[in-house]
Amino acid sequence: MASIQTGKATAAKGDAGVGGYVDALCGKCKGVTSHIVLAKVGVKPTRVECRTCHAMHQFKAGAAATAGKPATKTKAPGTRSVRSRAAEPKPEEAWAASMRQARGDALKYEPGGRYVASNRLSHARFGDGVVVRLSSATVCEVVFKTGTVKLIMGSTPARRSG
Ligand SMILES: [Zn+2]
Repeated sequence: MASIQTGKATAAKGDAGVGGYVDALCGKCKGVTSHIVLAKVGVKPTRVECRTCHAMHQFKAGAAATAGKPATKTKAPGTRSVRSRAAEPKPEEAWAASMRQARGDALKYEPGGRYVASNRLSHARFGDGVVVRLSSATVCEVVFKTGTVKLIMGSTPARRSG
């Protein structure tokens, strides 16, 4: 466990050449991580790439932030991961994700049963599914591979005289 010592953070390695590794402060990782030196002036790295998140930014020493010029003046238009909500996940994907989160063994669905969210159900017609939420005390929404289905639950089974 190497604790950060003030002052001599990079003293041990001396100078890392371009392509070498250097410890620097990463704004994304919010901490000191190992960086690849992309460019340097004299013995000082000027531009580095975080080996953890691969963000490229100006070199900032870990403890002492005594850089000559302000680092964040213009942000480089890096690769932005735009998540559009336009594309809805397919029923199969939602189902698979729900199945991964579901716990326990599948319960056999019965109209008289009582289920809670994240219960895994086995339905005679729809197959395996997962309770995603309860619409009401007697209706649960279950996501099956084919889509979400509302099922009655907790209803008193009709007694047949007989
Ligand atoms: Zn990082």
